[in-house]
Amino acid sequence: MSGDPYTPQSGDTSFDVESYDLELDYRVRTNRLEGHATINAVAAAAISTIGLDLIGLRATRVRVDGDRRTKYTQGPRVLRVTLPHRLAAGERFSVEVVYAGTPGPRRSRWGVIGWEELDDGALVASQPTGAPTWFPCNDRPDDRARMRIAVTTDAGYLAVPTGRPISRSSRAGRTTVVAESAVPVATYLAAVHVGHYEQSDLAGDERVRLFTPPALRAPAADAFAPVPQMLALFEDVFGPYPQEDCALVVTPDELEIPLEAQGMAVFGVNHLEPEEQRLIAHELAHQWFGNSVGIGRWRDIWLNEGFACYAEWLWSEASGAATLAQEAVAHYARLRALPKDLVLGDPGPELMFDDRVYKRGALTLYALRCELGAEPFARLLREWTATHQHGLATDDDFRHLAAQIAGRDLAPLFTAWVDERSLPRLPKLAAG
Ligand SMILES: [Zn+2]
Repeated sequence: MSGDPYTPQSGDTSFDVESYDLELDYRVRTNRLEGHATINAVAAAAISTIGLDLIGLRATRVRVDGDRRTKYTQGPRVLRVTLPHRLAAGERFSVEVVYAGTPGPRRSRWGVIGWEELDDGALVASQPTGAPTWFPCNDRPDDRARMRIAVTTDAGYLAVPTGRPISRSSRAGRTTVVAESAVPVATYLAAVHVGHYEQSDLAGDERVRLFTPPALRAPAADAFAPVPQMLALFEDVFGPYPQEDCALVVTPDELEIPLEAQGMAVFGVNHLEPEEQRLIAHELAHQWFGNSVGIGRWRDIWLNEGFACYAEWLWSEASGAATLAQEAVAHYARLRALPKDLVLGDPGPELMFDDRVYKRGALTLYALRCELGAEPFARLLREWTATHQHGLATDDDFRHLAAQIAGRDLAPLFTAWVDERSLPRLPKLAAG
C-alpha cells in the first residue's frame, strides 16, 4: 500500500517504523557504500509482506526478527520482504538489511535527489523522495522515526550525519562518527555529508557546530556571524529551539539551493555571500517548521515553506533591512505578475516547490497577522510550535488553531489565500 498521493511510488502504509539504526561504510574515491540497517517497526494492518524503498543499492541479506529463512525480492525501487509469520496490526517486528553498491541520486520530477557525489566527497539532498538512494526505508513523510547513524569513512575525510553527536573514533586511519536523533525524523530529513570537513564553533552560540573545509572556515564564520541573533529572534517569536543539534555544513561545491535536514542546514560555498543571508534564516526556521512541526502529507508543504519564508522577512526587519510590511508589499507585487494557477493548500506534486508556494504561504501568514493583530498572532505562532512539537500537523489543524485564538471564523481569509487561485487583496499592517 503506497503512501502520499504526491509521491505514490514511495512508502508503505501497512507498517510504521519506530527506529532506524544505520551502520554505513563509505569509500570516497570509489563511491562505494556498504550499509547495515536495522529497522524496528510496528504493523499498521495484518501483513505478510512489506515493501522497503531502496534504489540503486543491492540487498545481500535480509532477516526479519533474526530469521534466516526470510525471503525477499528486489525491484528497481522496492525491496519486498516476506515476513516469516503473518503479523496482526500492532505487532512489532525488526528487519535487518545488509546492502551495498555505488550510490547515486535518483531522477525525479523534482530533479536529481538523494545521495550525490561531490568533486571530493558526497552529500544527501533527499526532499522529497531521495532517502532510498542511501538506506532502505519506509519513505513516507508521515512515518517519522528515531535514528542512529554510524558512518565510517576514509582518512582525511569527516562524515557529518544528522543527529546529536555521540562519538568519533579512528581505526586503521578510518574515522567513524556516530549520531543519534531521539526526536522523530522524517526519512527526507535524514542526511550524511562527507568531505574534508573540520568542526569549529560559532562565536555567540555554543549550540552551533560548523563543518567546513579548512579554507572556508573564516568566510563561513563571517557569513554565519548573525546566526546567534537569528536563533534568538526565532526563539522569541516561535518558541525554544526545538532540535537536539544545530550543525551548519558548508560544501566546497556550489549548490543550487541550501538544504534543510534534522538539526542541520547545508550550504554551498556560493551561499556565503552577504546577499544570501536570507537563506540562512530560511533554513534555520525550518528547524521549527518542517523539522519539528512536520507535515504528514506533501500537499501541506506551504506550512513548511510559507513559515520559513515569513521568517526570512522577520529577519530582514530585525536586521535593519526591509521591514516585514515592505517585504510583503514587494512580494505581493511580484506574485501579481505571475500566473494565478496555483492552489496553495494543494499545489500538486509538480508545483509543490514552486516559489509561489513559498511567497504566497508567507503572505497568508502576513494577512493573518494583519487580521489577528500582533499579540494574538504571536500567540498563534507559539501555540502552533508548542502543540505540534515533533509531531505531524495539517493545514486544517492550523486553521482551527487560528480560529480558536481569534475567537471567530477565519474561513473567508483561508479560503481566499489557501484554497483559491486568484490573489486576494493585500491587507495593511496596523501600526504596532
Ligand atoms: Zn525551505
